[in-house]
Amino acid sequence: MNYDLLIDLHKNNPRQGPGSEEMSLKALSFIDITNKTNLQIADIGCGTGAQTMTLAQHTQGQITAVDLSAVFLEKLHIRAQEKSLSDRIRPLERSMDDLPFEEASLDIIWSEGAIYILGFEKGVQYWSRFLKPGGYLAVSEISWLTTSRPPQLEDYWIKAYPEIGMVSDKIKVLERNGFTPVAHFILPPVCWTEHYYEPIRQGFSSFLERQQESEEALELVEGEREEMAFYEKYQSYYSYGFYIARKWG
Ligand code: SAH
Repeated sequence: MNYDLLIDLHKNNPRQGPGSEEMSLKALSFIDITNKTNLQIADIGCGTGAQTMTLAQHTQGQITAVDLSAVFLEKLHIRAQEKSLSDRIRPLERSMDDLPFEEASLDIIWSEGAIYILGFEKGVQYWSRFLKPGGYLAVSEISWLTTSRPPQLEDYWIKAYPEIGMVSDKIKVLERNGFTPVAHFILPPVCWTEHYYEPIRQGFSSFLERQQESEEALELVEGEREEMAFYEKYQSYYSYGFYIARKWG
């Protein structure tokens, strides 16, 4: 996979995975932030910062926004400056499996559409050490919505992400790794279509122009189109679940 091409396809979009401001705020509503002025928050795999901006606007926290892509982080930095929030958002170019935080130093670890990169359980285990006792983990993770599904769909996901599971499986992972589940909910289709796929689709022609219709770029667009059609067909079987959990304190 050509990482630079992927970044170029996604860099001008408001978000790089399914979600919405409404759903970020819903997740935040389960976390007690009243009167907390100096919250230390990490937003891991932040992309161009859709949820980072929401967190900055709705908490008093200091947010370290971690991503591997300098291009995405630069977009986030511009967004933060436009809203005069750059004093509370620190962009950090770093891999999510090698974080510089001190142990037990964070109040909230947030991650939308990114923990799968480490794998859900590995991510929960590794990141937990950076949370204070009583700190919160808020992550979205691809999840099955039904106990049975068409074999073609099952095959696709087992290849793409074998850790995909039911909501109850994700809850079990949280519990066996020192967390008490606080809430969970499923992202509605609009988080995929209107907020994620539609801006990608609208950007196809300018992306192909920038890439001078290279074979690789055309292949990438074709792959994205297939993914969208796949979602269209099978959306009643899978979505992102949003999981909010509290580290034992
Ligand atoms: N949270 C954002 C982006 C989700 S896409 C949103 O919902 O819009 C996943 C993000 O993880 C991308 O921005 C990608 O650059 C980033 N990423 C990929 N591998 C990473 C790694 N090893 N460490 C940190 N970030 C990574």
